[in-house]
Parts: sequence; structure tokens; C-alpha cells
Amino acid sequence: MNPGSSAIGVDLGGTFIKAARITASGTIEAQTRRPTHPESGPEGIADSIAEMARELNDGSGLAGLGIGVPGVTTAEGVVVIAPNLDWHHIPFKQILQNRIDLPVAIDNDANVAALAEARAGVGKGCNTLCFLTLGTGIGGAVVLNGQIHHGASHSAGEIGHMCVLPGGPQCGCGNLGCLEALTSGPAMVRLVQKGLEEGQKSTVSSDLTPEAICNAAAGGDSLCTETVQQVGGYLGIAIANLINVLSPDVIAIGGGISAAGNTLMHPILESTREHTLEGLFEHTQIVLATLGNDAGSLGAAFLVLSI
Ligand SMILES: [Zn+2]
Repeated sequence: MNPGSSAIGVDLGGTFIKAARITASGTIEAQTRRPTHPESGPEGIADSIAEMARELNDGSGLAGLGIGVPGVTTAEGVVVIAPNLDWHHIPFKQILQNRIDLPVAIDNDANVAALAEARAGVGKGCNTLCFLTLGTGIGGAVVLNGQIHHGASHSAGEIGHMCVLPGGPQCGCGNLGCLEALTSGPAMVRLVQKGLEEGQKSTVSSDLTPEAICNAAAGGDSLCTETVQQVGGYLGIAIANLINVLSPDVIAIGGGISAAGNTLMHPILESTREHTLEGLFEHTQIVLATLGNDAGSLGAAFLVLSI
């Protein structure tokens, strides 16, 4: 493959489809986006993506089209489940390939964002990176030796479903005490609501959001500080487990809630240090992801671009 060539990277979300033409070094040359219209189904969405790819194709020779989807994918490019799109067992790679005269690659959205951070973001130049996105759910991915680690099931990297509290609250996956059930945005809101119902005083009241909770914690609110410390504590347990097993160069933390910065980072680091085996902690950088909303399309393009 020509190392100077470009590719189309597509970030398929529940609300918007974002597509960009990206060089092998991670420069965005052109980009476009349009509403997803999940009701148009896989065929309608594939039509939109094919049109966007034509718009972005400048005729200079593209290496292919990569796409990150919000769901579980197989090695053959079947989307096993994508809850936001209401997709079950959709052979989306083939559906796209029927419309696009370029090699097509497909992967999970957290996996492609991790690949982007590893190649062009906070993990650039590093070998091994673990990625967590903190938002409505907890996304996770592992990049080993510069490549997405899929494992035997092709679904490795589900850091959000690591059990950090046996017998804890029920997760969307049905298990108890998953990281996601304890540290996602909704989980954080539930913790503060519970405190308020129990009569604890706080500067926050109605319209609770993770951002408002983190801001209040930064301002010294005791209920919100307690909540953020608890959430950071569980995240630290999960991160320590990752470090103990993989000793990655970088743990990158992204997603909406990561905007809280030091308010959340401090308890995360404290808990990670406490739960990591001696001699390992200082070899891993635990840092905020840097590519933000561009990570999806960048990483998707990297699926079809060699380093
Ligand atoms: Zn779970």
C-alpha cells in the first residue's frame, strides 16, 4: 500500500454519520456529516455512506473505506448487535461493499477510537494502549503492538463489563457490579439522587448531569465530591487490573465525562496506584485522550491504512 495514500473513515453514530478523507499520517483532508436516520435501515444508511464517500473521493486514489459502528462486530464484518440502530446480525460490510468500489473494513467504534489514539493521538509512538470512554456507557478497547486486540471472540476490550463490585448494581448486560453500572453518567446521577433522597445537602438539585456533578465537586460540594471519588475509585480498580495484566504504555480516557479533567482524574489515579502491583504503576501513563470527536473517523480510516 502506498504510505502516502488516503482513506475514507466513517464514524457511524446513532444521531450522525461523520465521514472524512484522511492521510496515513492522520491529517483530515476533507470531511462531511449528515443525520443517520436509523429508520432508513442498514440499506438506507449504506446508501448515505456511499454518497458521502463519493463526495469525499478526490480521485487521487484511496486505500479503502473504514467504518466504526456502535455495536459488536464479527471478523467477517457482521454487526451482531447495535442497540442504538436496532440492528441484529446485519452483514453491514457486505451491504456497504455492494455499493462501494474500494476495500471496506468495519470495527466497533471504541476499537477504532483506540486505534486513532494509539497511532495519532495520546499514544502516538507507543506499543500498547488501553482506551476507556466515559459517557452514557463505558466503552473500552485494547491496542496491542499497534493493532486492535480482538481476541478469540473478536469482541475483546469490553472494559466496561469488568466486574469491580461483586453483587453490585445490575448492568445493562444483565451481570452485577460491572464498571459501567457503577461509573457511567447515569450511574453517577443515580448516586447523587440517592444521596439527595437520603437528605444529604448539596448545591445541585434538579437537572442533574454528570457535568453538573463534576463541576459541583470541583467547587467543593460534599455529596458530589463523595460521588466523584467513588466513581473514580471504581475506575481506578479497573485500570489497575488492566495495568497488572497488560502493563500498557498508555491508558487513554475519553468520552464526555472525561471533560471533568482533574476532578475525576485525581481519584482515578489515587485508586489506580492503590490497586496496582508494586513496580508497575509508574510505567503506564494514565492520560486524557486528545482526539475528541475526530477519533472515530480517524481510527476508521486507519483500519484500511498501513502505518
Ligand atoms: Zn455489564
